[in-house]
Amino acid sequence: SYVLYHDQIIKSGSIPVDPEDRGYLFGDGIYEVVFVYNKKPFAFQEHFDRFVQSSKKLELSMPYDIATFKNLMDELIHKNNMVNGMVYIQMTRGVAPRNHLYERNMQSVVTGFAKSVALDSILESQSKGIQTYLTEDIRWLRCDIKSLNLLGNVMAKRKAADYDCQEAIQHRDGTVTEGSSSNVFIVKNGTLKTHPATNLILNGITRQIVLKIADRLQIPVEEKSFSVEELLNADEVFITSTTMEVAPVVRLLGTQEQNYQIGPVTLKLQENFKLQIEKNTTA
Ligand code: PLP
Repeated sequence: SYVLYHDQIIKSGSIPVDPEDRGYLFGDGIYEVVFVYNKKPFAFQEHFDRFVQSSKKLELSMPYDIATFKNLMDELIHKNNMVNGMVYIQMTRGVAPRNHLYERNMQSVVTGFAKSVALDSILESQSKGIQTYLTEDIRWLRCDIKSLNLLGNVMAKRKAADYDCQEAIQHRDGTVTEGSSSNVFIVKNGTLKTHPATNLILNGITRQIVLKIADRLQIPVEEKSFSVEELLNADEVFITSTTMEVAPVVRLLGTQEQNYQIGPVTLKLQENFKLQIEKNTTA
C-alpha cells in the first residue's frame, strides 16, 4: 500500500520514523479523518478548515495549502485503489531534542494513510442501533483541538467495549459532553439537543452537517448542554461521527441504565445525511 509522507505518496514501510519526533514524545500534533465515498472525499473543505484551526491553536506551522492537501489525498486514494474508506492525516510539530518547551516555526511532519472500509459494516449499527456506556469525562479542557493526545478517549472506549458497548457517552459532573470518538444528540418532544461547540467537545464535522440538515428540515435545535438526567429521559438518542455517520443509540449502560427506541427524528436525519453523501458522490 501507499502512504503520505510530507508532500509525497510513497510505498508504505519506507517512512523514516524519528524517535525524537514530538508527536511520539509529547503527542504534540493533530490529525483529521476524512471519509471517502466512491473515491471522493466527503466534506473535505470542512475537515481541512478544522485541521487549520487545530494547527493555529497549537502554533503548529502548516506547510501546505488546501489544494496541495486535496491533490495528495486524491493521489493516496488513487494509488491504493480505494473506493470506500477513510483517510487519516496527521501532522506533528516535528523533530527536536526532547524538551517540553517548543520552538515556534519548526518543520511539521505530515504523514497519512488510507484504509478501505466495507460500507455494510457500518450499516448494521445504523439500522439496529448501538449500545453505549456512560462514563466520566476525565479529559483535558481543550477537547476542541483534534490533538493526538487521546488517552482519555482511548480509556473510555475500552471501558465501553468491556460492557459490550460500541461507544462511550462521557459526562463532566453530570453534564453530557460527547462520545469517545463521536458527538451525542438527544431528542425530547421533537427538539434536538447537543452540547455547544465549546472547549469541552470536538466540534464534529458530522455534527455540523446534521445541525444544518435539521435547520433545513425545520427541526427545532438547541445547542445547549444537557444533563445525564435529560439523557435518561430522552425520547431518542444518537451519535454522529465521520466513520459512523448518524447512529441511533438503543441502550445505555453504566451507573445509569436505559433503553431507547429508534425514533423518527433520528431516522429523518440519518436518511438526509445519506442523501447529502449521494449528492457529493455524484456531483
Ligand atoms: N468527538 C470526538 C472526541 C472525536 O474523536 C470525533 C471523531 O473522531 C468526533 C467527536 C466526531 O467528529 P467528526 O464528525 O468530525 O468525525
